[in-house]
Amino acid sequence: VQLAAQDAALLDRRERVLGAPYRLFYQRPVHFVRGEGVFLYDADGNDYLDAYNNVPVVGHSNPVVRARVSEQLGILNTHTRYLTDGVVSYAERLIDRFGGAVEQAVFVCSGSEAVDLALRMARHVTRRRGIIATSHAYHGTTDAAAAISPSLGPNNEVPADIALVAAPDLGASDPQTEEREFAARVDHAIADLRARGVEPAALIIDSIMSSDGLHGTVPVLGAAAQVIRRHGGLYIADEVQPGFGRTGDWWGFERHELAPDLVVIGKPMGNGVPIAAVLGRASVFDSFGGDVRYFNTFGGNPVSIAAADAVLDEIDDRGLRDNAATVGADLRAALSSLAAEDDGISSVRGAGLFLALELQDDGVPNASRATAVVNHMRDARVLISASGPAENVLKIRPPLVFGSEHLPRLADALRAALAASPGGDPVSGSPVTS
Ligand code: PMP
Repeated sequence: VQLAAQDAALLDRRERVLGAPYRLFYQRPVHFVRGEGVFLYDADGNDYLDAYNNVPVVGHSNPVVRARVSEQLGILNTHTRYLTDGVVSYAERLIDRFGGAVEQAVFVCSGSEAVDLALRMARHVTRRRGIIATSHAYHGTTDAAAAISPSLGPNNEVPADIALVAAPDLGASDPQTEEREFAARVDHAIADLRARGVEPAALIIDSIMSSDGLHGTVPVLGAAAQVIRRHGGLYIADEVQPGFGRTGDWWGFERHELAPDLVVIGKPMGNGVPIAAVLGRASVFDSFGGDVRYFNTFGGNPVSIAAADAVLDEIDDRGLRDNAATVGADLRAALSSLAAEDDGISSVRGAGLFLALELQDDGVPNASRATAVVNHMRDARVLISASGPAENVLKIRPPLVFGSEHLPRLADALRAALAASPGGDPVSGSPVTS
């Protein structure tokens, strides 16, 4: 694997100071110097079509976000213990997008912090400890969030107050059966917790089950939400991946026809400026906030709020939620026609502009082919990744400014990469997910 001399030197310096926990994408890491819209650029000015990054939801280096953030930086930036207008107006505007499902918001700086706070709230409100999550989930980096993120790796020990359930397997049977079977697994997990003397506080699910291999084409989570409620626990919708219009709906849980007790949002919320939130009903917030004082130094500061407000403006003004639905449908059709030509593609799934191709070889997950395809596409300057328990699910999740004019380049690169790696090259590196 050949890198330019200066990139090899940078890689060397990076490994020395950033150390082992950091991973880079690709066998031949790529060095970007700027981004614009759906493109990232290297030092030679080559454009890379970004079909992977969901944080720059309104486009890389979005000029509206940039203007609002720089203006606010020159006016006021402080914490939420003074009266300021921006955070209140934004909270009202955000809560409005939930159609009555939530009434209040707490702002934090990352999805992990939001997950951590949602777990704390659920445990405090129910006076219980048990949390149920899916068996290859990713929910974040804090101690509590990492404990329900088995996709981090086998050394991530599962504490006694956590129970894991396999995500719905949409390839195996019909959605109604999957919904029922998934709810039964949650019921079983509650019994398991109780057998250990732990009462269930919450069920938390990424509404599109991204790290579990991307599900979410059809509703499958409603019955499980009813099960946790029947047993006195809360349902937490992790919307960090599907939120803000990606699926064609504002929130991923909408397709599952359930009303969550708590919602966690993040990633695209500030288009890269750190901001995330927990939302829920006033009764839940009252029960937590009546006992506990919560303060987050950077959470919801005026600069982060300016970014988040500009993101909502851009999604609205440019019709990006509809764009996710319409361009997503065209992309899905293109992926389905690739699947019709290729026996190794066992399923096309997802919603809106979050789609996946699952690769199998005679019914066996084909991770080496997924890795080869991702690396071939990198060489063709189109960015995607792979995920799922077996790392065999190609993950396509572009900024929402991805238009139909960008589709042919993505589809052509994917077709060529699939053709160039029919059985999968035996390769050492794997594209890092999450
Ligand atoms: N939940 C989900 C579903 C996520 O995908 C992520 C990030 N990949 C997180 C939570 C954590 O968010 P952050 O990286 O902002 O802490």
